[in-house]
Amino acid sequence: MAAGAPTERPLSPSQEVSRRTPICNPVGMTTGAGQRTDALRVALEDETNTRVTYLVDSTKVFIETGGCVPANGGDAELALALIPALRGGRPVELDLPRSATGAANLPSLQAIFGSWLDATPVEVSGPASESTSRGTQVASFFSGGVDSFYTALRHAPELDALIFVHGFDIPIDDQALGSEAIMHARMAANALGKELIEVRTDLRKYLPLGEDWGFTHGAAMAAVAQSLRARFGKVYIPSTYTYKDMFPWGSHPMTDPLWSGAVEVVHDGADATRMDKLAHLADQQVAADHLRVCWENRGGRFNCCECEKCTRTMIALRVLGVLDDFKTFDRPLDLNRVRFGVLRDTAQTTFTRQVLRQIEAAGTDPDLAKALRWRLRVGPARHAISTQRGRVLAKLPTRSTGDKDPLAAALKDAPAGLREMALLPRSEPMPQRVQHALFVLGSWSIEERPAGFELTRERVAALVR
Ligand SMILES: [Zn+2]
Repeated sequence: MAAGAPTERPLSPSQEVSRRTPICNPVGMTTGAGQRTDALRVALEDETNTRVTYLVDSTKVFIETGGCVPANGGDAELALALIPALRGGRPVELDLPRSATGAANLPSLQAIFGSWLDATPVEVSGPASESTSRGTQVASFFSGGVDSFYTALRHAPELDALIFVHGFDIPIDDQALGSEAIMHARMAANALGKELIEVRTDLRKYLPLGEDWGFTHGAAMAAVAQSLRARFGKVYIPSTYTYKDMFPWGSHPMTDPLWSGAVEVVHDGADATRMDKLAHLADQQVAADHLRVCWENRGGRFNCCECEKCTRTMIALRVLGVLDDFKTFDRPLDLNRVRFGVLRDTAQTTFTRQVLRQIEAAGTDPDLAKALRWRLRVGPARHAISTQRGRVLAKLPTRSTGDKDPLAAALKDAPAGLREMALLPRSEPMPQRVQHALFVLGSWSIEERPAGFELTRERVAALVR
């Protein structure tokens, strides 16, 4: 949708539940902007004692609900369809009634996601809403990560169960990793005295949802929560970010509660930073034995100990003095990875600064402090360069141009990180060029660095002379 004032306001709850959209273009012709105009239909395909299957815009997706009898419903159907429909400017047509709460929340939900996506609210039609029965128990989503443990521990007296979903961050066909993560989640739930509801779903197979995960994962969790209404009346979603670091995102304190329908959805923990949460977990044996933070799983490892998220968590645990106790991190913290890690956004930079201040105040870990200072210097540049690598390399001088520039000559056979220096403005005075070169060299990955190569200021100065 192009930016600009919406041409149609959200429907009031009464209008919205009483209208059924006529399907004016069932073959899915596109508009001038290349968008489809036919309705995005969601229909119940099948339901058994363990699984509910929906047909979403001709893609079949299932949700298996572990030991709970699944419940079909329009609240779950809407959660699967709304964001793809907003993106595509298509009306939504459901075949099941939503709850009165879900219907009442829709205008606000559309207003917020519509604002984030520059999209006009879409019409949603289906059978009239009805009062829907819900269970009385309380559960929390539980991936085994920092946010999950924090919410599970904080609300332990109220919680009856934890919900683990295989098919969200762990692909549904990755049996090995899925089994290992479930095993840890089972043991953690057992140690906390809670039942583990083991959900499996392939709903990411519906690509407008699965490939837009940053914006849709809250809706996906809502679809799972609403499918558990036979047993649960309230489900917590552990927050990733704090109220201070908010930006448009799939799971958000403004939008998560608006996915409430038959089941109340609660966004929890945005008042605590990641460091606060880890401090809360530091002396909890259950977290030390089962914490899982990694989504990249390099080398198929549970926590790869290499990616940004693993590294960030290990830094915090080391600062708290408990890294050795957390057994799911089975490799030492590599300070070179700390030094040369990227800083993708404000949240990562803020975290790094907070940790550095804490270490400098304590004065106990000068090696880590030094590595973090270097990360703050080169991390943002490294990220900027890495996202533009193709464009940068395309502009480099080549041997065939016969370039006499000594810098270009020096860069001809150099690794990619050095070649990127060729884009530095030649008009800059030497100190700035050297400094920029040092920043850019931060983008040079550890893997590319020739064995034994020492980066010195003199060496860089010689290259850019
Ligand atoms: Zn990792």
